[in-house]
Amino acid sequence: MTPDLASAPRLRQFVAGLDALLQRTGDEATILSEGRVLLAELTAHDDWLPDAYALSDPERYQQYLLYADPADCFSVVSFVWGPGQTTSIHDHTVWGLVSVLRGAELCEPFMQDERGHWVPAAEVMRLEAGQVDAVSPTVGDVHRVWNALEDSPSISIHVYGANIGRVSRHWFHPDGTVEEFISGYSNPPVDG
Ligand code: FE
Repeated sequence: MTPDLASAPRLRQFVAGLDALLQRTGDEATILSEGRVLLAELTAHDDWLPDAYALSDPERYQQYLLYADPADCFSVVSFVWGPGQTTSIHDHTVWGLVSVLRGAELCEPFMQDERGHWVPAAEVMRLEAGQVDAVSPTVGDVHRVWNALEDSPSISIHVYGANIGRVSRHWFHPDGTVEEFISGYSNPPVDG
């Protein structure tokens, strides 16, 4: 189950804009720069995300599929971070754009040092509502993300150049081990 685009005009407009952009170009730099503008327009208003896709869970952060392109060219996902919830260090393997809809989040990019260990690549960045961050194998694909708020949930809207819940990706553990994962989604089942 994903939101009905007919009753979510802002999301529908974003999907249409992104679809048009991806029809027009496959150039990643253009996708990231123009997609960033489209995503910032979507997260400039916090009046469109259906409540069912904004629910936090005390156990772990939630990732709700909002839209999957029929050809798997892109997907739109709401991430709901409970207080204190965090990802491990992970990659994406495809381009992605992240923008905060509600609350704030912190992200820390990682890079490999000469020994092949993943180490912080830059300062922790705080993303406020409406701000956008980009990831990709070209611009930097490995990071860790967590809720900046300690007493309330935060929500971010992500778009990726694939059906991200089905993509085989990697967790990078501090001891140097690497683990493959496929995230799936937290969506309620159809008719559920
Ligand atoms: Fe990520």
